[in-house]
Amino acid sequence: MTTETAWPRTLIVGGGIAGLTAAVALRGLGAVVEVAEQTPAFGVVGSGVTIQANANAVLSALGITLGDDDAVPIGSFTMIDERGRPVLHGDAREIMVDPPSVNVHRADLHRVLLEAADGVPLRPGVAVTGVTPVGDEVEVAFDDGSAGRWDLVVGADGVRSAVRRALLGEAGSRTRYSGQTCWRFAIEAPDLVPTATIEQWAVGRRMGAVPLARGRIYVYLVASAPPGTPGPGSSEPAALAERFGGHHEVLDRIFERLDGVAIHHGDLVEHVDVSFGAGRVVLIGDAAHAMTPNLGQGAGSAIEDAGALALELLAHSDDPTAIAAGLDARRRARVTFMQRTAWRIGAMGHWRNPVARWLRNAMLRMVPQSVSDKQTVQLWQPGLELAAALREAGYPRPLPASAA
Ligand SMILES: Cc1cc2nc3c(=O)[nH]c(=O)nc-3n(C[C@H](O)[C@H](O)[C@H](O)COP(=O)(O)OP(=O)(O)OC[C@H]3O[C@@H](n4cnc5c(N)ncnc54)[C@H](O)[C@@H]3O)c2cc1C
Repeated sequence: MTTETAWPRTLIVGGGIAGLTAAVALRGLGAVVEVAEQTPAFGVVGSGVTIQANANAVLSALGITLGDDDAVPIGSFTMIDERGRPVLHGDAREIMVDPPSVNVHRADLHRVLLEAADGVPLRPGVAVTGVTPVGDEVEVAFDDGSAGRWDLVVGADGVRSAVRRALLGEAGSRTRYSGQTCWRFAIEAPDLVPTATIEQWAVGRRMGAVPLARGRIYVYLVASAPPGTPGPGSSEPAALAERFGGHHEVLDRIFERLDGVAIHHGDLVEHVDVSFGAGRVVLIGDAAHAMTPNLGQGAGSAIEDAGALALELLAHSDDPTAIAAGLDARRRARVTFMQRTAWRIGAMGHWRNPVARWLRNAMLRMVPQSVSDKQTVQLWQPGLELAAALREAGYPRPLPASAA
């Protein structure tokens, strides 16, 4: 079948989680696809990410496996208040899904995706600066002065997407700041790796410690902060210890070992509008619907988008202009729900009013495990169904002979 189909020649802009997963998915169809990435080495920030079961199922359907050396099944999750008292406890091991939700170092995830995309032409070190539909093609300009034309362009270039700006302008690319800013890093500290993911909610702050493979810990530290604050010095180990220390023994010990650890700082934002693009320019992942990270599904939804993109391309191989609308119909409700839920969790986590916080924690303590398990499985369900649809469509598809 694939040899008879005239697949649109496709450029994917951005070699992050969305772009590389899409490259694997489209390559599986036999489509002519290449990836342009602005960083010279397809590099990533050295922290962690949780890939929940919905996204891991899609990866698995596409033939991408996060092995035991790289990924740690989530196991249990404990949320504690500012004094270390348990608020919520979950045990993902009791929700039987294969493959399970996992924690993974971003560099490991990236390596696995790059290996899976073997055979796809990758063009590192070039940033896309312009995207212009011209008749039945899209002209793409790069920052090295070169240009080219493709039948279909997929913008997978993150929250500050140049593809999105070219298509929708600044007005259509607006983000809103959540009022929360975040520091994150991964550190090798085998003696401190927690047995469960821990998240602590203190006043105006949240801190998380997530076990990673090979003796590493992924730490995220979130604080309420006015826009544009705090300044660059806030990532210094002493400044982090001062802002977030004194609540949890493991974190306090980690703060003592931060010299030389790369710390990434950024504000938590979401797109004001969801857009999957228009015509021959498609948007996926954070370029389409950046969300705050409080549900742990930004990367998950990017992976789902990539799988859905392949199904839309299969359905509309003769008319690439229908793909963006098809993705919108398939994905908008799902990602909007995720965006809203993540935003709500973040806001609730930073309540300052002591009565509201007491009531919040009391109510969370009363949620039976069976109820939270059910909600989790409901959250995953559309991703599990997408994975099943990919398998029905013949995935994981072997590498086409031309790319092997
Ligand atoms: C603190 C924090 C914690 C998070 N934790 C989780 C989690 O646990 N689980 C989860 O599912 N999600 C999580 N997320 C969200 C997740 O990181 C993102 O949703 C995900 O990385 C989006 O992937 P992407 O490929 O769409 O975009 P990106 O990861 O931003 O990748 C975009 C790529 O495009 C490249 N690029 C950009 N502009 C250009 C250009 N002009 N030309 C060429 N290339 C370009 C970039 O260099 C980059 O490689 C978290 C986010 C944050 C901020």
